[in-house]
Amino acid sequence: VVVLAASSGGGLVAYADSQPDQPQGFKKKKVVVLGTGWAGTTFLRNLDSKLYDVQVISPRNYFAFTPLLPSVTCGTVEPRSVVEPIRRILEKKGGDFKFWEAECFKIDPANKKIHCRSNVETNLDGNGEFLVDYDYLVVAVGARSNTFNTPGVTENCHFLKEVEDAQKIRRSVMDCFEKASLPYLNEEERKKNLHFVVVGGGPTGVEFAAELHDFVTEDLSKLYPSIQHLVKISLIEAADHILTMFDKRITNFAEDKFGRDGIDVKTGYKVVKVSKDAITMQNPATGDIAVPYGMAVWSTGIGTRPFVVDFMKQIGQANRRVLATDEWLRVRECDDVYAVGDCATINQRRVMEDISEIFRVADKDKSGTLTVKEIQDILEDIYVRYPQVKLYMESKQMNGIADLIRTGKGDTEKESVDLSIEEFKKALSLVDSQVKNLPATAQVAAQQGQYLATCFNKMQAAEENPEGPIRIRGEGRHRFNPFRYRHLGQFAPLGGEQTAAQLPGDWVSIGHSSQWLWYSVYATKQISWRTRALVISDWGRRFIFGRDSSG
Ligand code: FAD
Ligand code: MG
Ligand code: MG
Ligand code: MG
Ligand code: MG
Repeated sequence: VVVLAASSGGGLVAYADSQPDQPQGFKKKKVVVLGTGWAGTTFLRNLDSKLYDVQVISPRNYFAFTPLLPSVTCGTVEPRSVVEPIRRILEKKGGDFKFWEAECFKIDPANKKIHCRSNVETNLDGNGEFLVDYDYLVVAVGARSNTFNTPGVTENCHFLKEVEDAQKIRRSVMDCFEKASLPYLNEEERKKNLHFVVVGGGPTGVEFAAELHDFVTEDLSKLYPSIQHLVKISLIEAADHILTMFDKRITNFAEDKFGRDGIDVKTGYKVVKVSKDAITMQNPATGDIAVPYGMAVWSTGIGTRPFVVDFMKQIGQANRRVLATDEWLRVRECDDVYAVGDCATINQRRVMEDISEIFRVADKDKSGTLTVKEIQDILEDIYVRYPQVKLYMESKQMNGIADLIRTGKGDTEKESVDLSIEEFKKALSLVDSQVKNLPATAQVAAQQGQYLATCFNKMQAAEENPEGPIRIRGEGRHRFNPFRYRHLGQFAPLGGEQTAAQLPGDWVSIGHSSQWLWYSVYATKQISWRTRALVISDWGRRFIFGRDSSG
């Protein structure tokens, strides 16, 4: 049975700021947060720390601003400038936080405990392991790089996920130039050392290739004049185009620009093997080709961390690839565990599963048919609960409620506009094809962290006043509107002070002006005034003195 919230529009009851004084002996609930990345840190920054006893566990004691990692690979921005110690973030907030630098290696949902291992082995039996209890667990551990079991990738390729990776890449680029300069090498060997291969034509791979190209042409060409003509950058992508998640105009512009820059874009090639000296790729037309290389960066695919896979087995999600949550970010089939960011995906409920119940609620006068007004009245609530309906209504197929009714009728001539249940089903039959998984981005992770913190801050009040747009039996009480993602746009820096930007409403802008937009957005998004100052001064230093090439 669908129960509509008392106040339609689905808003939450405003929660008074003042917390009633807790009774003596009241024990705060324990919230354990795994991970200090985008999702975990945003959750912590927005959580009302007076309400909970919070413990944070992460193998690294800092937050990293990942969008600037490609800039760190070539020294455009220094590693220090993109990280902020988590203790500093927590201290600034004040309240009841504890941080343990350790890695969770097992979740035990039956006993509400997590097993952790510190990287410094200090306890008595020397294995560094300890247990932590939770009342609520927030899993925000991100994803791991995925090699798709391609032989030799782990041993021979760089990844670009963490700050350390970016630093290693930078040293490796310099090593390749120094090696290629040694006196006893022949031309072939010099060429091999100066062949830089990027696997993966997504935003990260493309940005890294562009950054490397700028580094080579703007800075290194002056320092290594005798070998600079031997440098080659290849970008390998299995699909037919690079940047496929962007508008076609951006993809075309990027491919053309890289062509002019001399970056060899190899689309339709799949890397099948990487050895110490050569990278083997495959294309139906050419078969296998092995090319010698100096350095390779693997920048494609993400996967689930092993301890999360183990957790999924325990809770009956063994057949899934990614941990599934409901639209409220609660892990499915597991009480009091939430998951946010790259480590999880929202299992969006299908309209067709609930269609009869939606119809019953919409049909306020119990006439057995829906009038235009009845549809209008429920549409906003449906949008909140089933975002795919909004996407569908805004898609090219649809032009407002009139079209929806016409689709249901399958006939534009009919007199009556009221929809029967069968016609209502028909009208919405294509809607679920609009269900999309959210991308693995900082933007999604941060919005989820913020949303979940809001839920936690209002949990007590919400328990007393359960509310939400549409409640379905068997799903438990819905305390809040489900999570709703707002896409604010995406950048693709392409080098040479040019950036492509795709903003909401398919607004596309490419060139130097979007580069300035990029600078200002990324300066604004910095987590503290300290990192903001550092990043801006790194940019200034780069403009004046160029990038540093020692290392
Ligand atoms: P992460 O930020 O990866 O955080 C995971 C946290 O969990 C880390 O603190 C990690 O140390 C910790 N952890 C790992 N294992 C354990 C464990 N066993 N126990 C406890 N803690 C653990 N997105 C954008 O929107 N825009 C961009 O421009 C952009 N650029 C990117 C550039 C690069 C090079 C990369 C790698 C990513 C980029 N992204 C970008 C994607 C974005 O960084 C991710 O989507 C985002 O970091 C996901 O946040 P998260 O909190 O889920 O995971
Ligand atoms: Mg995180
Ligand atoms: Mg991060
Ligand atoms: Mg996700
Ligand atoms: Mg009716």
